[in-house]
Parts: sequence; C-alpha cells; structure tokens
Amino acid sequence: MMIKTEKTLCLKSSRGGKVRVVREHYLRENVPCYNQLCQAACENEGKTLSEQLTHYVVPDAGVVRDFLEVLEFRELQGIVFMQTACHAAQHSRGRRLYNRLRSLLKDPRHDCIHFANEFQLYSYCPRERGETQEKWQSRSIYNAAVWYHDHLAGLRPVVMITEDKEAIAEYSSCTSGVYVISTKEYLETFWPDLKAAQELYCSIAQALLEKESESTEREYTEHLPAEVLEAGIKSGRFIQGILNVNKHRAQQEAFVRFEGSANKNTDLNSDILVCGGKHRNRAVHGDLVAVELLSSREWRGRTTALQEGVGEDKAGGGGGGGGGGGDESQVQSQTQSQPMPTGKVVGILQRNWRDYVVTFPPWEEVQSQSRNSQRILVIPYDYRIPKIRISTQQAEALQDHRVIVRLDSWESTSLYPNGHTVRVLGKSGELETEVQTILVENCIQVPQFSEAQLREMPTNSTEHPWRVEAGEVSSRLDLRDTHLVFSIDPIGCEDVDDTLSVRLLPGGTRMELGVHIADVTHFVKEGSLTDLEARSRATTYYLADRRYDMLPAVLSADLCSLLGGVDRYAMSVMWQLDATSLEVCKVWYGRTLIRSSYQLHYELAQSLLNGEDAEVPELSRLQANGTSEAELSKRRVELLEALRQLTRVARHLRAHRDQGGALELEGVEVRAQLDSSRNITALVPKQPLEVHETVAECMIYANHWVARKIQESFPHQALLRHHPPPRQEFFNQLQDSARTRGFTIDTKSNKALADSLDQAVDHKDPVVNRLLRMMATQAMSNALYFSTGACAEDQYYHYGLALDRYTHFTSPIRRYADIIVHRLLMAAIAADKDTEQVPSTALASNKDQEELAHHINNRNRAAQHAQKQSTELFQSLYFRDKDPLTDERCTADAVIYSIRANGMLVFVPSYGLKGAVYLKNRESQVVGVAEDGSCSWQGGTLDRQLDRISTTTATGTHTFKVFDHITVCISVQPNRCHPLNLCVEVVSSKPHQAAPSPEAPAGTGDKPKGRGRSELVQEVVRLAEEASQQAKEGKKGRGKLSKQEKQYRQSKQPNLYTVLQEIAQLALLDLPACEAMGVGA
Ligand SMILES: [Zn+2]
Repeated sequence: MMIKTEKTLCLKSSRGGKVRVVREHYLRENVPCYNQLCQAACENEGKTLSEQLTHYVVPDAGVVRDFLEVLEFRELQGIVFMQTACHAAQHSRGRRLYNRLRSLLKDPRHDCIHFANEFQLYSYCPRERGETQEKWQSRSIYNAAVWYHDHLAGLRPVVMITEDKEAIAEYSSCTSGVYVISTKEYLETFWPDLKAAQELYCSIAQALLEKESESTEREYTEHLPAEVLEAGIKSGRFIQGILNVNKHRAQQEAFVRFEGSANKNTDLNSDILVCGGKHRNRAVHGDLVAVELLSSREWRGRTTALQEGVGEDKAGGGGGGGGGGGDESQVQSQTQSQPMPTGKVVGILQRNWRDYVVTFPPWEEVQSQSRNSQRILVIPYDYRIPKIRISTQQAEALQDHRVIVRLDSWESTSLYPNGHTVRVLGKSGELETEVQTILVENCIQVPQFSEAQLREMPTNSTEHPWRVEAGEVSSRLDLRDTHLVFSIDPIGCEDVDDTLSVRLLPGGTRMELGVHIADVTHFVKEGSLTDLEARSRATTYYLADRRYDMLPAVLSADLCSLLGGVDRYAMSVMWQLDATSLEVCKVWYGRTLIRSSYQLHYELAQSLLNGEDAEVPELSRLQANGTSEAELSKRRVELLEALRQLTRVARHLRAHRDQGGALELEGVEVRAQLDSSRNITALVPKQPLEVHETVAECMIYANHWVARKIQESFPHQALLRHHPPPRQEFFNQLQDSARTRGFTIDTKSNKALADSLDQAVDHKDPVVNRLLRMMATQAMSNALYFSTGACAEDQYYHYGLALDRYTHFTSPIRRYADIIVHRLLMAAIAADKDTEQVPSTALASNKDQEELAHHINNRNRAAQHAQKQSTELFQSLYFRDKDPLTDERCTADAVIYSIRANGMLVFVPSYGLKGAVYLKNRESQVVGVAEDGSCSWQGGTLDRQLDRISTTTATGTHTFKVFDHITVCISVQPNRCHPLNLCVEVVSSKPHQAAPSPEAPAGTGDKPKGRGRSELVQEVVRLAEEASQQAKEGKKGRGKLSKQEKQYRQSKQPNLYTVLQEIAQLALLDLPACEAMGVGA
C-alpha cells in the first residue's frame, strides 16, 4: 500500500532567502527496520542491528548535527539514524557532514542503520500549523522512536538522545520503554567505561558554548559564495588548487598548486604564491581554495635561503592529509627568487581538515593570555597549521602533553580557528607519545584487529590444524608432486609471499618458469570486515622500531606464508619459454596448490650458486632421517640446477629491461647482521648479491605479465601502476653537482640517465656516486596506482622499470593493491573460461577503481612520511641525551651535497642523516677556518657560487665545495611543540678521522664496530623502556594512557631487521620507495 500526501519544505535559496516548496510525499507500510529483532518480516537487506544489544539509541537532529563525532566511536552500538535527524543535520551542516554520515552508515564496522521514518505510514507526522521546524523535528523523531519500539514488540528499550531540555521535559515520561535523555546522561549511564567519548562530548559542548559568545569585529575578508566562486573558476578569473604552506616560513608563505590541468590560465606554469595571513584568508594547509591573482606589480618572490634549524626536505614533512608536500626541488632549481604569480584566497571550495596533534602553551603563558582562562591557543605539531583556539579547563593539567584537536570553524571575526580536544596522547618527548603523534599526523589508524574481524579468520592450532579443503584440491592446479618450488628470502623471514619454480619441460625444447604468490584473496573475501580493514589501511606500516600489519597474523605469518614443507594455496604465473632463446611461448595464470621444498635465504642461495659447499637445512634433515646418499646428492643437484636456470633467465630478463633503460637508483645502503637470536649486531654496507636481483627480476616479470593480462581483459577498470618521467628542471641540481667532478649526467631518457649514472663513479670516493643516485631519486616523481580507464594508454609507462605496463601482484600480504590485482586476475581468468558470463558486474567501475587508487596512493605516501619521520625521531632521541662536547659519537664525517645562500646541505653517511650547516649566524658572523681546519665563528663575509661557497675572515678564506668531506658535530635543539630538530655544525673543514683507539664513553662497553642506525634504534628503545619501567615503579602504571598505548602497539619487539629487509625489497622492486629512504636508509 502506498499513500500520497503533501509535504512542505523550507529551502534556502542560493542568495540566502527562503523558498517554500510543496512536494508529493509517498507513505508506505513497509519500510525496512534493519533490525534482527524484527517481528514483521521487513525486507532487511544489508547491514542490520544485532539482536544481542540491550537497547537501541536514536539521536535527534541536534545531536547528529553537533555530536556526530561522538556517535562515530565504534564502541557505540545499536544507533538508529532517523531520516528526519539526518536531513535536518545535513541541511544545516552541508555536504561534509552528509558524507561522514553516509560512510558511517555504509561501514559494517559501525553498528548503526538509517530508518526512513518519513516514508513510514505510521511513524510519519506532518508538521502542524504554527509548529516550529525544530519542534516538528523533535516530535517526528520521538514518534519514530516510539514506532520503532513498538515495531520490535517492545523487546528492547529505545533511548532517544537530545540536547533539547524542552523535549526531555515533554517526552521523557510519555511511553514506557522509550526514554528521552540528554547525550551526556546517556553516555554516563550506558557507556560509563567509554571515558574518551564522554571527554569528547564535553569538549565539543564547551566549544559550542564559547562559539555563542564570539566577537563581531572582522579580522578577514568574507569568502565569496559558492556560485560566485564556481562562475569565477569557469571564466578563468579565479584559479582553484590545494593550498600548500611552506613549513619553513609557515606564517608568511603558502603556495596554491593547480588541481590537475583543468586550468584556464595556461600561461601560468608555476604555483601561485600567497603571502601573509590576510591574503591566505583562513585557508588551512591542504584546503582546496579559489585564488585571485594580484596585479603583476604586486607579485613577489619566494625565499631560497636556508631557514634556521631546518634541513632540506623534499616531501615537506608532516601532513598526511590530502595536500601533499611543498616542493622544494623547485626551490633548488631556482637560483634566485624572482617575482612569481602571487594571489589571494577569495573562497574555500573544500576544507580538508584532519586530526591535529597540538601542545598546550606553558601555564604562565595561558594565565597571561586572556581574561577568559578557559580559552587558550594551542600549538600544532605541524608547523604549517595555525594556532588553534580551544576551550578547556584542563590547560594546567595538560601542559606537557600532546593532545589531538579537531577544527570546528574559522569565522571572519576570529584571528584563529576554533577547535576542540579529542584525546590525550601522552607526555610529550616520550617515545610512545612521539610515535603516536607521527601516526596521527599522517592519519594512520591501526587499531587492534577486532574480535569480529578475527572471527572471520581460519584457525590453525595444534588442536585444530588447518587443512587443505577437498574442493580446493580439485579446483586448483596441484603442483605438489610435479614442481620443485622454493623461496629465497632474507634470513629469518616469517611472511614468505613469493616462491619460484623452474624446470625443463619434457622434450627439452621448452622450459617453464613459475612465480607462485600467496593466495590471500582465498582467505580475505571481498567486503568482509578483514577486507575493509585491509582496504582502509592499504599497506603494512613500517616504523623504525615496529610495524603495523595490514592483515591479522594468522594470515600474514602463517596460512598465507608460503613456508617450506607445508601445503599452501597460491596464485601462480607460469611461462613456457624457448629453452635456448628464452622467448615466451605461452603464459598460464591461475590458482594452484603448492608445497615449497626449500626455504632458502639469499646468502645460502648465493653460495650454492658460487659452487660452495654450503649446508642446506632441508637436506640435512633428510640425512638425519636416514635418506640415502644417492638420493641426497640427486636432490642437491636438482636444486642447484634450478638455481642456475633461474639465474640465467633473470639475467636475460634484466638485459632486456636494461636495453629499454631501466634505472637502478640508490636504495638501501646498509644490511643488518644478526646473531642467533635475531638481534642486530651490526649494519654492514650493502653487498648486493646477484641472487637478490634474480628474485627481484622474476617478481618484476610476474607483475608486468599480470598487468598485461588484467589490462587486456579490463581496459577501463584495471588497477595498474605507472611512473611518470621526471620534469627536466628537477635534474638541474644533479647535473650541476655532477659537473663539479667532471661527470655529465644525461637526462634525456631513462636509459641515458641510467648509463650516465653508471659512469659517474669517483674511484677515490664511493659516496659521490651514492649521492648522485640519491639526487636522481629525489628528482623522480612518485610511481602511482591508477585505473586504466582514467589514463591514456601512453601514460601507462613505468619510467623507472622501463616497462609499458606494470602493477603490483607479488606482495598481497602487505599491500592492498595486490589484493585488488589478484581479484582482477581471477575475474580475467573467469572471463576467459566463459565468455558468455560477463563478470564485470562484480568489478569496481573505473570511477571506483580510480578512487581506490587515489586512496592507496595517499596511504602509501603517509606510510613513507611516517617511516621517514620515525627514523628522524630515533635520530633525534639518540642524540638528545648526549653531550656533543664530550661524546665522540656526536662527531662524524659529512659530505656536502648542496650549496645554499647562507650555508650548505650535508649527508652524514654513518647515521644516514641529512642536515643543514649554516655558515652565517644571527649575529652575522661567519664560519672561519683555521690552518688546521678547525672552525669558529668570526666576523667576515660569505660568497656563494653555484657549486661552492667561501667564507673570508681574518684567518683567511676557505671554500666549501660540493662533495667535500667535512667534520660535523650533531646535537639536538630542544623543541616543546614541534618535532625535535637535529642541529649539524661544522667543526672542521677536513674529513673526520675516527680516533684510532676510541675511548668508549662510559656505559657503552665494547661496541661492535658497526655503529650507526641499529645502535641508535636499540639505544633509544632501551632508554624508553627504562623510563617507562621507572615510571611504573614510581606511579604504578599510568592507567588510561597505557591502555591507549597498547592499542597502538601491535608488534612490541623492535624489528629494524624486518624493516630493512622490507625496504630492500621495495627498493629493488620499486623505485619510488627509495625516495622515502633516499635520505634515511
Ligand atoms: Zn522490521
């Protein structure tokens, strides 16, 4: 039954006036209730509320509008969002709120549903004459709550929550079983343990209260209305783009980068400079803004000098939210700051606000700051974010803490944006707080896997061992008895996601190469909770001392790990190659069942290949079990032959790519050496083994062929990865630097670049080539995922690998892109088998795929930033407690790699760190160099050339050139609110000579000689553990905070080893990963 009625809507016109619209409105008897308790056979498809709950909760319009954040806590269950409440909230708060509501309702990890109360015949109530909009909304929602309660036959109470005291008075005792209470009361009564939600509630309520008492004096120009902005952008009068604040000059300098190429002002090919706060007009770093150009007389230049205490940082550090980093390689390419297009922000098209970590000002400052001591200005960790005004009564208690804050609004009458606190992270300066800060700043959310997620996982325990399912044996190609499958990984590797096989086919004219990858998608079903969690993480996150896995351990370390001697599901690519020419004759893709025979590590595989008599553990075990010598030697020969064939094939493949111009750039420079209990004893310089390259080459090959396959099958919606060629001007610094040593770097093509980098070797100083490769890496753009329908085919090219098509297929355990690619490959195989049955119904559209690609790219960037920042954190914490004057570890050799107006940038190989060295200080003194090389501040002058900089003082003139080795002293500048800064000072113009017999500083004992990063991480972790131990003994734990810490910390063991190996793999497989580590590794 359907009943037609009329409904009057009051809409706001674009000019702000009110428009009355009468709409036909259809009422039905059956509107799904999405509740498992349903007694009426509703058509409840999709997400439903559990019948296990003690009650259901109905927020009214005001609660949805102002406190949605509180309702976003995953712990809150059984939320019924009434249509009336959603409409009203959306009407007053716009698209952003609507999007949040929508994703909340869609996300199965949140226990909430939408009930269309206005379409339900009996719950709908038309607005009465004279009734205000708000009154009607309250009444509608209350009526709907009552209906919902009755619809469930009164089996559970329904609680309506509201901030409206009148509504509470009017309705709270009308219907038994339907309660009307305030949000505060609800949280305190029903969720007493969820303190975080209560605190958030109070913080928002406080902010709302303060907002009412705002001043009316205007500090900024009003933003133009949306339709004016839109028309202006169309006509070319305004330009839209993302605002990027220069973190080194956050108050003064911001740039607007065009969005895509949809820009009418084609004569503009640079960013637009926005100077000062007034012209920035309340835009926050990362916002999508509309700017208007100033007349060219008002254009200004950008700054190129080094900023005090800040090193060079291409990525721009900090922000994980949308915006991306400030591009300093452009700074490098401009020798002087000529006037550039300069503009002002006239409107904001989209706010891209995220959670910000802030520090409270010192208490004395708070007290003097304002008459109203509840409102204070807090300082964001990210230099690019303005101070935020918040209301709190905890300013004194939280003085030394880092706290998460969200922005609420920034009115034209307010000098600073308003915000509210969300959560306390912990005391600033403590390792855990600092690591959490890095996660939050990069929008990385890695809660522990929930019980519901873990319930989806298969079990594998001694009582319930996992077994191959019978159905799978028949549907898969069984390679267990036919193929010699083996893996080659770093020593001690737990998650083996790839294995290999190679054999001569009967007849002897063809051979078969196989790459077998963990079949993760067999266990992770599309749309499952595990899938959604993996999708939102998009990658495993590696920090200097820990990692956060994308998948639960039962998969990543066990059932999806292709361990030796056990049956495992795999996704395979197998090529039939001509045995002599190695040309591909045939390719097969599909699901297989494998049992890896050997779990080799790189060094073992290499020594076997070198003909050394290395012990193979699997064979020794057979020997111990009484296998005959003849059999053993047969097996040994078999394995050796496979390794040799593999090497031959890989050499062939590599040669092929080299012809096409594949690049090898500086990636990992150190390798961890472990003792028997897997502790790192030393970091040794990289000694690349050929077998590393052999394995990498096979993986690249598999990725390439899978890319071809899915692109051919799905030309408009396959997920590929491309690497755009770099912009030529980014190579200027590389070329200038190389020239100082007489090398020419040809950047015309990737082949030319690769060849000339190979030539640029200074035999006396290996660091030169390393630095040149590092600069080349920095000049590169990032490789990115994309959907084939979103890009022209000539843009599919992967510049670094010199391949026309590429994707990620070989690491589904730690990359979500590979999971998608596995599904696409299965769909492609299904389509081949049955051309009638079009599988595209299940496939994501081009638009969805492109959106996903964007998300994964964004998360990868966040992962890189977080990794880099955590490396820097450890470096800072390492040096923080050392006295640079007495501790020899603070003195090190450094190499100059770039010259700036007032100093230079150096690389410190022993710690893998980069920093800025100033040659001029605030008092305008310059660094004078004595005859013995020692340096001191003196009166004098500075003279900068392209590749050198000279200081002249009473003691004479010294010239620092690119690639010179100098001695530096490393210390840490204290910083309450922002990341700690390493301060690098030149102490001698000569290379650092480590003392021949170093007196080890007290407490360090006899150090292994591989001092550097490993020692650094270990020591910082040890100190942090000692500190927390002391704190525990002192205060018997820290209660709430330590619980939160646990949440953030899944793998407690510091695991630099895994990190380095992972990076090694990334670097070999995929060039842009080097960028993240270009400095650090
Ligand atoms: Zn129902």
